[in-house]
Amino acid sequence: MNTPPVDSDSSIYKTLLESTKAIPWKIDWASKQFAYIGPQIEQVLGWTQDSWKTVEDWVNRIHEEDRERVFNFCVQQSIQGLDHEADYRALTAEGGFVWIRDVVHVMRTPSGEPEALIGFMFDISERKKTEEQLLIMQKKLEELSYKDGLTGVANRRMFDTVLEREWLEARQHQHPLSLIMIDIDYFKQFNDFYGHLQGDEALKQVANTLTQAGVRAKDFFARFGGEEFALILPQTNELSASKIAERCHNLVFKEQIPHAKSEVSQILTISVGASSITPNRNDDFKTFVESVDALMYQAKRSGRNRTAINSR
Ligand code: GH3
Ligand code: MG
Ligand code: MG
Repeated sequence: MNTPPVDSDSSIYKTLLESTKAIPWKIDWASKQFAYIGPQIEQVLGWTQDSWKTVEDWVNRIHEEDRERVFNFCVQQSIQGLDHEADYRALTAEGGFVWIRDVVHVMRTPSGEPEALIGFMFDISERKKTEEQLLIMQKKLEELSYKDGLTGVANRRMFDTVLEREWLEARQHQHPLSLIMIDIDYFKQFNDFYGHLQGDEALKQVANTLTQAGVRAKDFFARFGGEEFALILPQTNELSASKIAERCHNLVFKEQIPHAKSEVSQILTISVGASSITPNRNDDFKTFVESVDALMYQAKRSGRNRTAINSR
């Protein structure tokens, strides 16, 4: 049996290093020169192997938004003799960038001074892309769970959260809290006559215009369900609430959505219930919501296209 030719140790290591996907490199600390960089660098970034001469070349090929952070961090860690890793965008010869994770080992002299830095650069573009997509998806999911899919305004879940918070605030500071409930008049007839898709469009239009009803930062508008909407008005008394209810009617009126089958008008109208409360310990916000809903139905019974208001 023939014995295979014996490679020198360094030649084995070189072959191994240069056939991995990670790019090995070494920088001499005193001269700040590259002692070595793997030839794979050219496939990843486009810069030739022998164009990597000094630390400057490395710094200049870091995306400017990452440059200072990464450079400062690496210098600081190296001076302390600490191994470290950094993620950054490395510029390509063609003018783009590639996400790199640089893993760095600090070689030290017997007296503890840094002697050289050796490391591996990993191309982590794919991982970064997945991370970014994950973040976008997470954001979408968050929006979906708090946003009404059809109209884009806050949904019932968000309404419940906000109302509970504002209720506690109002009770603690003894401020008046107003709630307005809005329901479209004869919307079933609207759907029956114009079709469900046009019904959806009308809902979007009404929701969109009603977002302008409350103008204070803490005013909060949501789709309560179906063709019902709600407006939470913190630190707002009955008089202000009645003005905002009036504004709701005007906003919907301005849209001039035809409603041939409405029994109260030729255009789409709403009925509104509004109430104000300064909650005390014995009050319950669910009861409050029910009472405002009942007012809204009172507005329906007394002819629709109007507001019923109450306070205590
Ligand atoms: P009222 O004046 O008494 O409120 O009469 P109404 O017909 O509006 O009342 P009702 O509650 O009986 O009907 C509500 C209608 O709203 C029925 C339902 O099909 C419609 N609706 C609820 N959600 C949607 C939706 O997302 N899209 C569409 N197009 N219609 C919806
Ligand atoms: Mg209705
Ligand atoms: Mg309804």
